Amino acid sequence: MIQSSELNRRHLVLVVEDQEINRDILGMILEDEYDLIYAENGAIGMEMIRENKDQLSIILLDLIMPVMDGFEVLRQLHDDTELREIPVIVLTAEKEAELKALQLGASDFITKPFDMDQVVLARVERIIELSERRQLIRSAERDPLTGLYTKGFFFEYADQIVKFHPDWKMDAIVINIERFHSVNEYSGREFGDKVLRKLADGIREFLKDTTGIASRIEADRFDIFCLHRDSSDYREVYDSLQSKLDEMSEKTNIRIRMGVKPYRDGVTPSEMFDRARVACNMVRGSNKDHMMIFDEDMRQMEMFQQRLMNDLGWAIEDKQFVVYYQPKYDIQAEPPKLKSAEALVRWKHPELGMISPGDFIPLFENNGMISQVDNYVWAVAARQIAEWRDKLGYLLPLSVNLSRAEIFDPKLEPYLEELLEENDLSTKELKLEVTESAYTDNAMELIDIIGELRKMGFEIEMDDFGSGYSSLNMLSSMPIDVLKMDMKFIRNLEEDIKNFRMIELILDIAKFLEVPVVAEGVETEEQMKLLKDAKCALVQGYYFSRPLPAEEFEALIIKEMNIDRNH
Ligand code: C2E
Ligand code: CA
Ligand code: CA
Repeated sequence: MIQSSELNRRHLVLVVEDQEINRDILGMILEDEYDLIYAENGAIGMEMIRENKDQLSIILLDLIMPVMDGFEVLRQLHDDTELREIPVIVLTAEKEAELKALQLGASDFITKPFDMDQVVLARVERIIELSERRQLIRSAERDPLTGLYTKGFFFEYADQIVKFHPDWKMDAIVINIERFHSVNEYSGREFGDKVLRKLADGIREFLKDTTGIASRIEADRFDIFCLHRDSSDYREVYDSLQSKLDEMSEKTNIRIRMGVKPYRDGVTPSEMFDRARVACNMVRGSNKDHMMIFDEDMRQMEMFQQRLMNDLGWAIEDKQFVVYYQPKYDIQAEPPKLKSAEALVRWKHPELGMISPGDFIPLFENNGMISQVDNYVWAVAARQIAEWRDKLGYLLPLSVNLSRAEIFDPKLEPYLEELLEENDLSTKELKLEVTESAYTDNAMELIDIIGELRKMGFEIEMDDFGSGYSSLNMLSSMPIDVLKMDMKFIRNLEEDIKNFRMIELILDIAKFLEVPVVAEGVETEEQMKLLKDAKCALVQGYYFSRPLPAEEFEALIIKEMNIDRNH
């Protein structure tokens, strides 16, 4: 991987400032290191930003200027997806303006009159460096094994296609490999990887002749978003992909299955892929047909979902939702020390059996019913903290998940307060996890609400960090207490240890933000040791424990208490 600084490119800096004297001073400080261009007000500044958007490394922006002020420039940058990644340092003489500028998305500020040259230089250099790291992390948009997009980016792009090309009619395709785990088991992982790459090649060939994008969503699931074609054409698409695999597997006979959701107006990409996946799962294990197009028959699945929605109310009353707990360990302690745990919900349905959150959380998130589940889970978690405190004399903070919609619910804060009061807890004991992608839309509003929650004393953990789209500008104004690194970074380590670089970049950004990192999905001792050496603070994953029901988790606490006593 090449970093632009390693190519010795001189960085381009735009100074937007109405006072000539200030432009001159900044020029003198920066000209040895950087290429500089100048604008004397915000309007000219915006023009120059648009002209140079691909070369600009950073903008130094005065706030008070004629014609268009710096606040307006920040606003316009923030509203433009192409420009919002460019880091901005605000030049300001007033303390009060700093906060507002940071809230509007500036990365940092330099006070006027200017500090010593070295201070100005160091700030500019540091912000450019951090912003480049952020970009590098985002280059994780491609799955290292197949070169296709990763899940988060794929859906982001799919949404953009719909937004910017509303006239394009797009189909959703989901492809899986039948019994892929046994392919891995019997023919070896290396062969399994080859199969995945071969299939990705086939998909790329298909996309050469049509407009579309593709992703390896996870393991052996591939999603394609492409221009609409006749249902009858999909038979051919299926056959050509399958024949790719036949070339390499005469004896093993690897089959793919495929589900298609043809274009329909007003259905979002994520809903389309939900349906394509339903279609794909319908043909699982079938020995007749391995391809299915989502059509009227598939109302069945929608009926299944309808069933879950109907059953929800009663399920809560009947206490069918069970909360599991997964520990987070401080790995810098020796031996690693239990610090807190995450509450994760499961649905023990009397007729449908154990349903995992992946099957119902997205469904309930889409239709707004999620708060019923979450309110219940938070209440159980809060009671559980109190119970362990009273019974074992052990105060274990728990974190709970907050869905995006709940954050904007005005009843959120009073409800949380009520739970704390009922159980005689403080805000330090119930922590809140908010997924990074929630921060991407409505960022300003969200920042305000999260800020409120933090003022109340709640600690906010940014979940799945690295899967969303937040820029360094956004990150530095985002109120958070902990970064939870997305599991994919640990999974990528299994592909290639070189991917550890990504993890180091994240740890570095966390250091800049002055927050600790929780690494999720850690399964092996080797991964744990790497993270420990890199000074990662906390680890959550199967290596320490799977999510456990309360009774089993209690045994874990008791064991930990004994370890403590023996120390
Ligand atoms: P999440 O918040 O990112 O939670 C972590 C998920 O990773 C959990 O899956 C956990 O069981 C799994 N996991 C933990 N360690 C490992 C590991 O070492 N290897 C692997 N392969 N997986 C590991 P789970 O419990 O199936 O939950 C899935 C998602 O559902 C969660 O992702 C979260 O987004 C959502 N969720 C779970 N419970 C709740 C809830 O009460 N409310 C809301 N809104 N969402 C929830
Ligand atoms: Ca979580
Ligand atoms: Ca997570």
